[in-house]
Amino acid sequence: MSATRVLVLNSGSSSVKYQLLDMAGGAGERLASGIVERIGQGEVADHTAALKRVAAELAAAGLGLDSPALAAVGHRVVHGGTRFTEPTLIDDGVVAAIEDLVPLAPLHNPANITGIKVARELRPDLPQVAVFDTAFHSTIPEAAARYAIDAATADAHGVRRYGFHGTSHAYVSRAAARLLGKDVSDTNAIVLHLGNGASASAVRGGVCVDTSMGLTPLEGLVMGTRSGDIDPAVIFHLSRVAGMSTDETDTLLNKRSGLLGLCGDNDMREIGRRMGEGDERAQLAFDVYIHRLRKYVGAYFAVLGRVDVVAFTAGVGENSAAVREAAMHGLGGLGIELDTVRNALRASSEGASGGSWGGGPPGGSWGRLISAVDSRVAVAVVPTDEELEIATETYALVSAAPSDVPTAPIFRS
Ligand code: AMP
Repeated sequence: MSATRVLVLNSGSSSVKYQLLDMAGGAGERLASGIVERIGQGEVADHTAALKRVAAELAAAGLGLDSPALAAVGHRVVHGGTRFTEPTLIDDGVVAAIEDLVPLAPLHNPANITGIKVARELRPDLPQVAVFDTAFHSTIPEAAARYAIDAATADAHGVRRYGFHGTSHAYVSRAAARLLGKDVSDTNAIVLHLGNGASASAVRGGVCVDTSMGLTPLEGLVMGTRSGDIDPAVIFHLSRVAGMSTDETDTLLNKRSGLLGLCGDNDMREIGRRMGEGDERAQLAFDVYIHRLRKYVGAYFAVLGRVDVVAFTAGVGENSAAVREAAMHGLGGLGIELDTVRNALRASSEGASGGSWGGGPPGGSWGRLISAVDSRVAVAVVPTDEELEIATETYALVSAAPSDVPTAPIFRS
């Protein structure tokens, strides 16, 4: 039996998400998926117990980790620094290098590393691949990646803009080109990944040239609980006038800001409901969110010069017609004309037209157009699929000619 399956693991601090995909023929058929939550609280003691549970769930479905059909495990790793710009076959040196990057991503990389270590213990013979959230943004030119601070200080401490959500921006920019029937290399896209975390990217011909997140995922757009861009002097001011410590401002800006900080809710559905009742705080939160989003759209028009498509993705981007309409309203001068009827259609009521785009990932389509037919710039809703992207990149690496693979994978048969 040839090994064509990839197990994708996304190990967070208190949860492990997994998907098993069959990459035969490049399709990416989803065979199983699940999540083990509340790690460290009660019955799931730690990541070892969580991954053992994942293994047990897969075995119960007849898809055990010992299957000869399993080609590799693909791990989502949040921060790759400047060292990792591509999917990387994991060995002890790679694990050590990801550990070295923990100061840049103290909340995320430790959990990713634990997931890697446990998976390597469970199947030491299996190729394991790290796919980095930062990698797609490694092409951003210095002019966009550099902060205008003392260069020696920045270089000594790795202070620069890295960007995140890279697998999503990579997948969606390609899917949007396919939706338009265009070659990726000839498509300029603005990708708006609007989930609980949110980021924008400017992608020229498949190559990322700017993104809104920076050293950490705090910069840029207004998010569910994160402030996005602020004057950094706010931190000094709060330190001086309110005696707030570094940890307190970190918590303020990452966990008590954004939509939550502005109105007490971080879920766009609830904010929409409250706005319908005339709630002014919810309306203001929405307005601040939209204002920032529109500024980035305008900025990325200037960065790209020519834009073929604006693609909305992730929880808010895929589901909130109100956000899309407000973000695209009145941009005729940029060549954007939204079709408000198409925009308001729910994707679920569109099964037939979803399929009529011709082709698409398994069980879906590349997305749907919501711009008017005569809009110079296309506007699209493109469902993201980070797991499929991780599996695709992982499988491409391990199924490459053996001479291309740094260490020879040993397959069980
Ligand atoms: P994500 O991080 O991509 O899973 O996105 C999660 C966020 O998507 C939630 O916090 C909600 O704000 C938003 N969301 C999910 N479903 C909807 C919906 N039907 N309408 C508006 N927002 C939604």
